[in-house]
Amino acid sequence: SGTPHWLFGDQLGPHFVDPARGGPHRDAPLLMIEARSVLRRRRFHRAKAHLVLSAMRHRAAELGDRVRYVKADTYRQGLREAVGEGRVTVHHPTSHAAHAFVRSLPSVRVLPARGFLVTHDEFRTWADDRGTKHLRQEDFYRWVRGTHDLLMEGDGPAGGRWNLDHDNRQPPPRGSSDLGVPAPYHPRESEIDDEVRSDLDRWSRDGDVEFVGEDAPRRFPATRREALAGLRRFVEHRLATFGAYEDAMLAGDTTMSHSLLSSSLNLGLLDPAECVERAEARWRSGDVPLNSAEGFVRQIAGWREFVWHVYWYFGTRYRESNTLRHHEPLPGWFTELSSDATGANCLSHVLDQVRTTGWTHHIPRLMVLGSLALQRGWDPRAVTDWFHRSFVDGYDWVMVPNVVGMSQYADGGRMTTKPYTSGGAYIDRMSDFCGSCRYKPSVRVGDDACPFTAGYWNLLHRHRDRFEHNARMVRAVRGLDRLTDLDELLEQERHRQD
Ligand code: FAD
Ligand code: SF4
Repeated sequence: SGTPHWLFGDQLGPHFVDPARGGPHRDAPLLMIEARSVLRRRRFHRAKAHLVLSAMRHRAAELGDRVRYVKADTYRQGLREAVGEGRVTVHHPTSHAAHAFVRSLPSVRVLPARGFLVTHDEFRTWADDRGTKHLRQEDFYRWVRGTHDLLMEGDGPAGGRWNLDHDNRQPPPRGSSDLGVPAPYHPRESEIDDEVRSDLDRWSRDGDVEFVGEDAPRRFPATRREALAGLRRFVEHRLATFGAYEDAMLAGDTTMSHSLLSSSLNLGLLDPAECVERAEARWRSGDVPLNSAEGFVRQIAGWREFVWHVYWYFGTRYRESNTLRHHEPLPGWFTELSSDATGANCLSHVLDQVRTTGWTHHIPRLMVLGSLALQRGWDPRAVTDWFHRSFVDGYDWVMVPNVVGMSQYADGGRMTTKPYTSGGAYIDRMSDFCGSCRYKPSVRVGDDACPFTAGYWNLLHRHRDRFEHNARMVRAVRGLDRLTDLDELLEQERHRQD
């Protein structure tokens, strides 16, 4: 019972100290280490650095005398200072690097992971049973729904269909600049936030740590109480329209009907089980339509869970995958989040949002930022690093599969069936960005050419040999043969300046 238990900065909720769920003894002293070297390793978004430190310090304040909070340069130093060579327990950390580190220390006993629905062993058995190196989220999701009894009616899916994506891909309502749903929950800052902000100011003034982006005011929950308020606000006031508009974008409504819960889940402030259960309860009580409850459950019990397990199952080398052999560096304007470099209205809005908040919903990430990186042939590892640094919810486990696999197709299709990218027509259909853009989504060559439309054809041309063998891409690739101005387009893309 006296063995101290170490809480990483993304293990902040009650399920990380619960003896009934394999956690530390209820009397075990707790240890938290704020390691400055983590901030030095990358140029993080300031809002992210602020959120993580604020959440850790708020948790320490709640735990009071039970926790020893050590500010150190590295985890190793912090551990030495707190316990010397003494024994410590810790729940399975969330990155390969941290996992290798705790496993290398004989005095540390690693307890099972918390904060996910499915265990590592259960996933391994499920994946090994597939007998293929290509894993599909849809198969996994159906299995989770059944084994966890989520949105089920008897042995089948509620409403008779597993997948309601067809109802869930609607464009934004035409003619309105916002979706008209109540605003998301906004936390109120505390003295701890001020203290973190003045530390960040001091460290950057001293040249110790560099940041990108803006951090005030804090928009995302830093405590369990705030995270629960965010969850409540979402399921009660915003979930009903989540499904229909989950893929839509509006320049004047950046949050649409999304939950904004990713950072709270990834900090461990919320447990995914409570999120999906509450969404299901809202559907069962007749307050939200099935397509919204299902869409949200799919995001958490399907995508989030799948991405976590793929990260461990595919191993440490997965991050180095680069099937398309993309090696271009990211341009300075992109890494600096300067929003007007290309004049593309969609991109300016999205980069602006990343700079001011450190968050966008999934379609700007996938179909604007990630799609651009793929079309331009940017190095997938650098793109992964950029996403990791620039988003409040970015952690190694979630970024590697989402960027290397899902967005950059660098794994050659081990977790998706096709590359996610499009020309301007998709962005035009799903947003209101194009009307006020200096480019035209239907134009591919010349001064009015939409960079996404031109970039899309250029990408298909560069990888024609590979994509021709993909059943979901073959029609698109054949479209190249109908382009009478392909040579001109390729020449234009070769000389692109931005
Ligand atoms: P909602 O749309 O309300 O969805 C509900 C929840 O589902 C999210 O809070 C999140 O926990 C979960 N979720 C949905 N999709 C995914 C997914 N693909 N992977 C993991 N969780 C998912 N999500 C992160 O949490 N951290 C990341 O670093 C991250 N990087 C991404 C990078 C790219 C290129 C892409 C395409 C997606 C990435 N995502 C990431 C997934 C997704 O975009 C965000 O989780 C979501 O936009 C967060 O906003 P929200 O909480 O309002 O989500
Ligand atoms: Fe983006 Fe092209 Fe539309 Fe402009 S025209 S907003 S660049 S998709």
